[in-house]
Amino acid sequence: MSHAANLTTYQLAIVAPCYNEAGGLPEFVRRVKAVCAQLGCAHEIILVNDGSRDGTLAVALDLASRDPVIRVVNLLRNFGHQAAVTAGLDLAEGEAVVLIDSDLQDPPEVIAEMVAAWRAGADVAYGQRRSREGETAFKLFTAKLFYRLLRGLTKSEIPADTGDFRLMDRRVVDVLRSMREPHRFIRGMVSWVGGKQVAVPYDRKPRFAGETKYPFGKMFAFAVDAITSFSIVPLRLVTWLALTVIALTVVAGVGVVVVKLFNPHYFIPGYPSIIITIVFFGGVQLLALGIIGEYLGRMYEASKARPLYIVEQVYAQHDGRLTGRPAAQP
Ligand code: UDP
Ligand code: MG
Repeated sequence: MSHAANLTTYQLAIVAPCYNEAGGLPEFVRRVKAVCAQLGCAHEIILVNDGSRDGTLAVALDLASRDPVIRVVNLLRNFGHQAAVTAGLDLAEGEAVVLIDSDLQDPPEVIAEMVAAWRAGADVAYGQRRSREGETAFKLFTAKLFYRLLRGLTKSEIPADTGDFRLMDRRVVDVLRSMREPHRFIRGMVSWVGGKQVAVPYDRKPRFAGETKYPFGKMFAFAVDAITSFSIVPLRLVTWLALTVIALTVVAGVGVVVVKLFNPHYFIPGYPSIIITIVFFGGVQLLALGIIGEYLGRMYEASKARPLYIVEQVYAQHDGRLTGRPAAQP
């Protein structure tokens, strides 16, 4: 993908979801602004208030009243992190957009490295956690397990140890904005888009203030969203189970016949045939479910209505020179 990274002036948009973050928000904005000042780029900061129950809205509005680069998107109620990020992305106008948590677990200073990667030609510069301070052993373990499972079940290369902390070029943002699936696993959707995606390693910090809004129940639901958004393997497992059951009944059937040839009174009469018939038809019913699942999976894929392809550029001769130009997305 080509982008405006070679221009000397560009606009950076910073999108930060906030849910009960009143305590840390001024410090967050201060540090983001320090980084932008150091980069010397025009910027906007979009604070998405995701139905906070503390004073987050008042704090955000106060910050915005004193700083014209801040816009506050106030959602009517709590829609969840991924929806809040999406609301911010829909409004962001920058040539590059940065997604960052507002609790200062993602250090704003890393944005400078992401911008450097973008200006060197990356379409996406994603933060990859080198270390995680202030997280429980349980969270670290479940996160590791989750990324293993996700990798095994899906075809797309979703990098491990990443969150949504990342910089995306405008073209990636536009594709992402066209993907309106309701169950959103944004980091996966971004890697699905493709292009040049580079990792920027960083050390994840403990929260500046407040507490995590991702207790185990929410994390689990998020993991289910992630796997089901990127894989229809769970549906297909039914078919494999069915075929295994049917194959086993065939083997058992042959075994019974062979045993009976050598020892006709080995089994209680009628018992093997009844059991084998029951298990066999259990397998047939599972297979029917698997076939329905196969079609359901296809309908599910279709209902996500993701773009069928993403054009990098179209190459043709212009004034005798072969030139690549971006094509309009369908
Ligand atoms: N967040 C949000 N809506 C929610 C939950 C969280 O906007 O329903 C925001 C939150 O303010 C923070 C980010 O999403 O900026 C990540 O949430 P959190 O820090 O609670 O998750 P963790 O870092 O513990 O995984
Ligand atoms: Mg956090």
